[in-house]
Amino acid sequence: MFEKILIANRGEIAIRVVRACREMGIKSVAVHSTADTDAMHVRMADESICIGPAPSSESYLNKAAIISACEITGAQAVHPGYGFLSENASFAQALEDHGITFIGPSAEHIRLMGDKITAKDTAKALGIPVVPGSEGGVGDFDVARKAAESIGFPVIIKATAGGGGRGMKVAKDASELEMAFRTARSEAKNAFGNDEVYIEKYLQKPRHIEIQVFGDGKGNAVHLGERDCSLQRRHQKVFEEAPGPAITPKMRAEIGAICANAVAKINYIGAGTVEFLYEDGKFYFIEMNTRLQVEHPVTEYIFGVDLVREQIRVAAGMGMSFTQDELEINGHAIEVRINAEKLPNFAPCPGKVRTFHAPGGLGVRMDSALYGGYSIPPYYDSLIGKLIVHGRDRPEALARLKRALGELIIDGIDSSIPLFDMLLAEPDIQNGDYTIHWLEKWLAAQFG
Ligand code: ADP
Repeated sequence: MFEKILIANRGEIAIRVVRACREMGIKSVAVHSTADTDAMHVRMADESICIGPAPSSESYLNKAAIISACEITGAQAVHPGYGFLSENASFAQALEDHGITFIGPSAEHIRLMGDKITAKDTAKALGIPVVPGSEGGVGDFDVARKAAESIGFPVIIKATAGGGGRGMKVAKDASELEMAFRTARSEAKNAFGNDEVYIEKYLQKPRHIEIQVFGDGKGNAVHLGERDCSLQRRHQKVFEEAPGPAITPKMRAEIGAICANAVAKINYIGAGTVEFLYEDGKFYFIEMNTRLQVEHPVTEYIFGVDLVREQIRVAAGMGMSFTQDELEINGHAIEVRINAEKLPNFAPCPGKVRTFHAPGGLGVRMDSALYGGYSIPPYYDSLIGKLIVHGRDRPEALARLKRALGELIIDGIDSSIPLFDMLLAEPDIQNGDYTIHWLEKWLAAQFG
């Protein structure tokens, strides 16, 4: 087992990894930018090291600085968290070249899934059902028009290199196609430095269902059921739950086995998430994330396992601590993402937190890097915490979430807490009756 792990991330996820390390008797190293000197992850880790100035391009994305930090501190492995370098194949490769273990899949698998067209082709070849769409990338408008006509409107144009809900445009009919195509390409160019796009059938009322998989890199893999992440704003998840209210045990077993077999076949190592849109009883692959997800705690709650611990174990060559037969669902879990954002426009509002009080009690978990007196820097993601609850069933989890939200105090800045208070009063949310469009429609009705 490793003696020391460097965490190439910040915020709540860096703390999440520190916690797993500490329970495993592994020393942790935090890295930070000059804007994060007072950050909680720096305080909690055993050691810390400054890797550059505030902009992430010069610090949290600075591969050379992170590798130097490993060498200076003697860290044998790097946990990348999510975002930043977590799905960066050349970073995984560079670490390997320096004899440092990347806690995640191989550079080859990251590359395979990082390009969405290759990912879709790979998924198809491995027996995973995919969304009908263009054959590969679409470079000019004539090809786009022909592809869209043969798929049938509405269609969605997506960046091959896309992520974080950016670079996607919907065309309801032929008249909207040219504009959507050009905008998607220029957004893709700006955001990812690559203007390749592809076209998919735009599903009208799907749910976003994702399957958690885990491989040991030696041809064994399991699935840990699904998460329903349909409640999204601008293609970004805000509320996630497991198990999915629309998924039956039979469907879970079937799609779970397809995903586990697929990743076993390629000797996948570590945590992965196979994302689907689900409509009328059918699953359609959209992408695979080769890392830990923000919403992993809901899965941890219902299966009673520590996914970060498992990531570290398999990276150290120790294999997984459970088999598929040992994994059993217990109750229901929900996560809400608390962002430093002001309603109704969701404008980011970093600033100084006067008071922070985390809720507690049975079945309540708060993953956050906040503390009273902390100044949230304006340079990074607006996620400031995740409130996760567990109950014996969905109604109990919902009641617990309402109670826990009532206890949570974040004073001094605006946050998305009021959004969840409002959502919990909605019958559709109480009944688990929503699709990926529900939240946008509801927001438009509430706030115009
Ligand atoms: P990203 O990598 O940017 O997160 P995804 O491919 O995972 O992009 O898609 C994010 C979200 O966009 C999905 O959860 C869904 O809400 C929406 N979406 C993507 N593809 C489609 C599609 N074919 N039809 C309808 N909605 C889609």
